[in-house]
Amino acid sequence: MEIYLEENFDLAHTGEVCERIEAVGAECGVTIDSLNLDRGTTGLTKIEVKARETHRIPIDRVENLPYVARVARLLPPWRQISRKYDPTPREIHVAGESRIGAGHFLWTVGPCAVEEENLYHEIIDAIMGVKFPEEARMHVAFRGFIDKNRTSVYSWEGICDEGIPWVTAMRDKYGVAVANEIMQISDIERYKEVFDILQVGTRSAEFARLFDALGKTDFTIYLKNGRGNTIDEFLNYAERIVAGGNEKVVLVVRGTQTTNPKYLRNAAAIEWGPALRGLTRQPVVFDCSHSVGQRELVVDAMMAAVSAGYDGLETDVHAAPGRAKVDGRQALLPEVFEAMAGFVVEARLAYLERHRLFEERGYMHTFMNP
Ligand code: PEP
Ligand code: MN
Repeated sequence: MEIYLEENFDLAHTGEVCERIEAVGAECGVTIDSLNLDRGTTGLTKIEVKARETHRIPIDRVENLPYVARVARLLPPWRQISRKYDPTPREIHVAGESRIGAGHFLWTVGPCAVEEENLYHEIIDAIMGVKFPEEARMHVAFRGFIDKNRTSVYSWEGICDEGIPWVTAMRDKYGVAVANEIMQISDIERYKEVFDILQVGTRSAEFARLFDALGKTDFTIYLKNGRGNTIDEFLNYAERIVAGGNEKVVLVVRGTQTTNPKYLRNAAAIEWGPALRGLTRQPVVFDCSHSVGQRELVVDAMMAAVSAGYDGLETDVHAAPGRAKVDGRQALLPEVFEAMAGFVVEARLAYLERHRLFEERGYMHTFMNP
């Protein structure tokens, strides 16, 4: 919320404004627009109220104060992640070698689920055998999903705690970040020793209380879009985590409900990436596996996403997809992952070059006004 004051008022009046705001139980932090002071005008002209729950502040109670000229709610409501107020892309150091955003690309790879110890280690070793050229600034993180959020109660729900030592062995061996899905607030605490990334899956994509809890942590949060969510809804949920205190939010596009379920798991929605990049500072990842759902389509979706400027990918890789307990149909073999890595690097470098050139020539604005 921004409160514009008449020109001849001074600092003492901010106290009265805060009283009105705090009277409704909202917190009030006041940032004074010092530019106006420097300009030598008679006093302050703008107070920016950084408060949660500004919707509870009755505008007329503040507007009625004699020295207040105008009150404006900040838009969009996902203002802390919006590029409107700060266009700098957010760089997130996830853990060890894994970084994302502001030019860093993070590829999160591994089986849909951790299933068997030796098989899991074989998959991760194969993934880590792939090297990326320095100039591409590409990094890797693993999928270490011990919990699976299933629709049918009769489906396998993950290896659970039995898989924790298998995952930590790989995390220690390679020093890169590891991801698992988070489904309940009570798991957050005990995952602090094991995981770096907590992913909110599409089935939990509107779990506001979970986001409040994640906002109090230092995990990198992979927030997936809900299958039926709009971009504004997606961004409001991301804002909730950031407003709670955790800026390390990565937006993961995984497609929306499709009108063609016979052939496609979801409607990929690759175009969300460029749109989100224009709207927010947060890094954006494309899940090329859960979006399209079959390996024949995964590689094309992956190339399209990298060319569209995503900051990362999420890809299912499995050494024995026929034996996979979940999502084998969409998993790439390690050798296919390795073959694709070269093409992904090329596409990434081509994107970076195009981006640099377009910026230099001013061909396109990368900011979308919401
Ligand atoms: C996953 O990444 O394992 C997953 C279940 O994805 P989504 O929530 O997007 O379906
Ligand atoms: Mn899966």
